[in-house]
Amino acid sequence: MQRERVSDNVYWFQSETYAQVSAGAIAGPQWAVVIDTLMPQETLDIREFIEGKLNLPIRYLINTHHHADHCWGNYFFPNATIIGHELCRKMLVDRSPAALEVASQDNPLYRQLKIVPPTITFREGSFNMKIGKKHLKLFPTPGHSSDGIAALIEEDRILFSGDAFMPIPFIVEGDLDQYIETTQKIASMGLENIIQGHGDIILRGEIKEKAKENITYLRAISKAARTAIRRKNPLEVLDSIGIEACGKSRVLLGGLASELHKRNLRALYYQTLENEKNEA
Ligand SMILES: [Zn+2]
Repeated sequence: MQRERVSDNVYWFQSETYAQVSAGAIAGPQWAVVIDTLMPQETLDIREFIEGKLNLPIRYLINTHHHADHCWGNYFFPNATIIGHELCRKMLVDRSPAALEVASQDNPLYRQLKIVPPTITFREGSFNMKIGKKHLKLFPTPGHSSDGIAALIEEDRILFSGDAFMPIPFIVEGDLDQYIETTQKIASMGLENIIQGHGDIILRGEIKEKAKENITYLRAISKAARTAIRRKNPLEVLDSIGIEACGKSRVLLGGLASELHKRNLRALYYQTLENEKNEA
């Protein structure tokens, strides 16, 4: 795991084992808040840093959304109160135990885990916290998933975006129009940094361009899915639409980008097919 201090009392952690997933922490005078957990293998490194090096108990843990790489480490913070979107709690309760069981068959490490859902939830508006002198504001950011929330440190204008902002938008469990809307909202917030759910920190001067690139990509894959549907061999057509043709590089996220792109196209194709069936 890599670790960096982003601002006074604000830390960023990035996985070295899985898809450059990131997490964060804000240290107050008496306790700390953690934002997301990485994959369970690296969760303990975060805990060790905060409890061991900073010598602070972790009082709150925020889940930006229910995906495994962001919150299956919840189990390792038994003394923290977990905060997330109401739908994050619902999906962790309804769906994740079965997914954990499947994962446990391949990886014995998961057998020691349990899914722990948030106990404090909200649905809309914002949820505000004070950590020392810093104000933290949580608000919904749907698109990548319906339960997405982001965390803004108001004084620093630093946003922990979760997967609402990532090097290549991933919409398989999401909604494309909401994703675009959320991206536009984030780009207009006057931020200093975006700490993306995956990949590197985005600096102030890069935000507009990255947001535009993500929106261009989302529109391109939407168009690609609609085009494929009109063809005789839609799945072959889909497979022939490369990531570069949609405005993104294949080297993003350590080369995982091409795979995510493929899954995006398939998911959109089936969503579009479904929508057209319902309209017919
Ligand atoms: Zn995700």
